[in-house]
Amino acid sequence: MDIPLQPWRDTLEDLGLAGLVRDPPALPSPAPRPPSEARPPRPGPGVPPAVQPDGPGARPDPAAVAAAPSLEALQTLIQDCQACPLGAGRIRLVFGEGNPSAKLLFVGEGPGRDEDLQGRPFVGRAGELLDRMIASIGLQRTEVWIGNVVKCRPPDNRTPTPQECQACSGYLRRQIELIRPRVIVTLGATPLRELLGITTGITRIRGQWQRLEMLGGIPVMPTFHPAYVLRQYTQEVRRAVWEDLKAAKNWADGPGEAGAAPS
Ligand code: SF4
Repeated sequence: MDIPLQPWRDTLEDLGLAGLVRDPPALPSPAPRPPSEARPPRPGPGVPPAVQPDGPGARPDPAAVAAAPSLEALQTLIQDCQACPLGAGRIRLVFGEGNPSAKLLFVGEGPGRDEDLQGRPFVGRAGELLDRMIASIGLQRTEVWIGNVVKCRPPDNRTPTPQECQACSGYLRRQIELIRPRVIVTLGATPLRELLGITTGITRIRGQWQRLEMLGGIPVMPTFHPAYVLRQYTQEVRRAVWEDLKAAKNWADGPGEAGAAPS
């Protein structure tokens, strides 16, 4: 896979940060399977149905979603969701993954082709770059949580509509409630719009602390989406992302009070 990772490392070396970069753990790369085989297993006997049995448009019971006691229970509840049109076209629902007690939670827009095939977030080229971005602040993918605004792939990787985002928003919010991160890093414009209602261009607002009014207030650091970094692979953009992630990690590691937001 032709990913310009060496320039990213070169930039970090230019910044005197080469020592912070670690190779991430090898990621499993299961071969794509036909859709009929790729869908996750259905719950067995004794497990409550994931969706209300009302055919197309079925959605999990919102009350059950809001009360899901764990990420595993939430995933079981929503795995057959058809609450928006994206459900009909997916191969696999991409729930998100990582440390269920992560201090840092990364939120992207939605699954792409590779994510749809594997059922995992950020596993394509942008995902490999995200791994390097996380490594540049001394962490590994398994130490953070990575998810998306929508759990199913929009066709042709288009931006999910506000209606699709709204249909899926309760799942992301329950994930945040269960993980209770100290800092959320939004990747690109869509998660910033959907979580905070901010429509300011990402190039203007990145790096400026925001606050999500949940759990007493969660600091939010907006930064560029890795796919944008791949397209705009300049030292300026890479340095901006690194500065954003460094600030997010410092706050997550620091003594800041829950509910307080960095200035
Ligand atoms: S994107 Fe979200 S709301 Fe739409 S079908 Fe998938 S899980 Fe359900």
